Amino acid sequence: MTPSPFVKLDGVAKRWNGQLGVEGISLDIPEGSFTALLGPSGCGKSTTLRLLAGLELPDEGKILIDGKDVTTSAASDRNLSMVFQSYALFPHLSVAENVMFGLKVRRVPKKERLEKLHRALEITGLLGLESRKPGELSGGQRQRVALARAIVAGQRLCLMDEPLSNLDAKLRNAVRRDIKKLQRDLGITVVYVTHDQTEAMSMADTVVLMKNGHIQQVGTPEDLYSRPDNTFVAEFVGAPPMALLESSVLAGFGEDKTIGIRAENIQIVPKGEGRMHCTVTESEFLGAETLIGLDHAGATGLSVLRPGLSMMAEGHEIDITFHDENLHVFDAAGQRLSG
Ligand code: ADP
Ligand code: MG
Repeated sequence: MTPSPFVKLDGVAKRWNGQLGVEGISLDIPEGSFTALLGPSGCGKSTTLRLLAGLELPDEGKILIDGKDVTTSAASDRNLSMVFQSYALFPHLSVAENVMFGLKVRRVPKKERLEKLHRALEITGLLGLESRKPGELSGGQRQRVALARAIVAGQRLCLMDEPLSNLDAKLRNAVRRDIKKLQRDLGITVVYVTHDQTEAMSMADTVVLMKNGHIQQVGTPEDLYSRPDNTFVAEFVGAPPMALLESSVLAGFGEDKTIGIRAENIQIVPKGEGRMHCTVTESEFLGAETLIGLDHAGATGLSVLRPGLSMMAEGHEIDITFHDENLHVFDAAGQRLSG
């Protein structure tokens, strides 16, 4: 028997005057896991999170947390903490007061409060800033105060909605690792909203990819990367995205199919020895590798990786090849066919 999930959404839907938010959202989230809700802007990530939090009530379906039906429960009765993109700090309170606010309300003893404060500020890199007011902090520092506050709240379930989007790239990477480590160390369950596939893939145990209010695929980062259920997943996950070819481009695949191939599975070969003859459109130096963009009729997103700094002139013609076992085959509706 599999243990019952810590968080369960069952056929959840939310609409506003007929306008779709989300529909048919069913999801089992085990305790202690890190789940990312991923997808483009407007796909329903925040709506799903707000339904979980109790900030919206569903039109259909059920929500269970820790075995309890909370579908219509108030947010305050759901025993969870939340971190939003907008930090929602008290402007007249110091960093320390903001972080400890919830603990004070819950009458946690002072010694414990200060210990938790210290640990949270250490984790978020805010030591030394205890007495500053939010107005005296950068956007990134304010966001870290909001994270610290969620950390000390000590709830078993923490919901985060794009918490890193106001941080610069370097800090984002550092805080990303901190959040992940913290989630593991504390054994808490995190549901994390992001539109950034790198963030979802690097942090989450389970990625839930959404589009137009519907779930497209649920799986490990590896599942979504290696076995995308449809062409939307194939193109959304991975950098560069999977290239898609009309099946007529390659012999032996018949009509009306789409063939997917990833850049790392493509090799450049001498002229006349390739399966496709392509024109170089651009070269992008990434550091360890150079990404060469390629043009071919019936293909989108075609590219190949070369080691190190290895630019190729625009308009240069090259032959490429790949093995059939690295190809992904999708039907006319974009659904995965191959094993
Ligand atoms: P995401 O967080 O993935 O960017 P949202 O969950 O915020 O997307 O929005 C999903 C859809 O629901 C969008 O089409 C959005 O316009 C709509 N929506 C969200 N909140 C409301 C609201 N309060 N009233 C009407 N429509 C809304
Ligand atoms: Mg959102």
